[in-house]
Amino acid sequence: MADQDWMTEVRSLVGKKYGRVYAWDKVNAPMIRQWCEIMGVAVRTDDDGKVIAPPGMLQVWCMEGPVQNNYPPGSTKENPYEVVKLLDAQGFASTVAVNSELTFDRDVLEGEDLYYTTRLDSVGDEKTTALGTGYFVTLVMDYFSIGALKGDDEHVGQLLFRVFKFRPANTQKPAAAADGKPAGIPKIKRSEPGVSDDNRFFWDGVKQGKLLIQHCKSCGELNHPPGPVCPHCQSFDLDAVQASGKGEVYSYVVMHYPEVPPFDHPNPIGLIELEEGTRLIAQLVGIKPQDVKIGQKVQVEFNTFNDGEMTLPQFRVVA
Ligand code: ZN
Repeated sequence: MADQDWMTEVRSLVGKKYGRVYAWDKVNAPMIRQWCEIMGVAVRTDDDGKVIAPPGMLQVWCMEGPVQNNYPPGSTKENPYEVVKLLDAQGFASTVAVNSELTFDRDVLEGEDLYYTTRLDSVGDEKTTALGTGYFVTLVMDYFSIGALKGDDEHVGQLLFRVFKFRPANTQKPAAAADGKPAGIPKIKRSEPGVSDDNRFFWDGVKQGKLLIQHCKSCGELNHPPGPVCPHCQSFDLDAVQASGKGEVYSYVVMHYPEVPPFDHPNPIGLIELEEGTRLIAQLVGIKPQDVKIGQKVQVEFNTFNDGEMTLPQFRVVA
């Protein structure tokens, strides 16, 4: 296929609407309770005692589960990601999620039956980023509740999902320099953390080899990641305490795909419960991914990256 033909095919899909994907189960209290427990938020009920689904759960109800493309009967057989396959075929095979924006019209209650439809909202122009060259693809999923409340299907929320489909920078042919010699492959750096007035103390501490955790002077709770206000008591009276750096693996994931430079893969990432009682996310080092276990004792260490320009806290399993 000539270069322009495949792009014409990609562009022709923009605006296309895909059919319904139904939920396996109605919105139900057990799933809500489990989700709330894991997220550490309270279960809410309405005036009639019905359990309210947290808005952030919207995507959960119509998910396929661990078996790919295993959707309930009646769901569309169309693939809303067909544009992604076209980009894969042209070598833009790496994927990184960029934006996920949820919009809510109203609370969803236990007993409601949901479905969503998908629209390919846009495919951007070719862009080159630090990751590589590719295209931003935006899909919009509209969620509806099937006639349970008022007789008609009702729009309850929307999920915008944007991915960047790209050729990784380190697999591209090196560009020729002005003198005709190859310019070489640029070394991919780690992304810089987003530093704000709320978390600057944390990153300043890291540079000095200190793990500083935000502490509320009003209620005494530790909060991480740091924010402008204590989520426990809404106080603005905040300072920081230095953590020992000792903790344990509360949970973890191992990133296999996409293989985004400059990380080694598989890449083990821990949710660390500090002995002071709050948790943070950091890379686990000095351990094979298959050997990571929940409950392992870990100790922070501070390592530098990007030719010494950046310091990050990482955690090493201790005997
Ligand atoms: Zn507080």
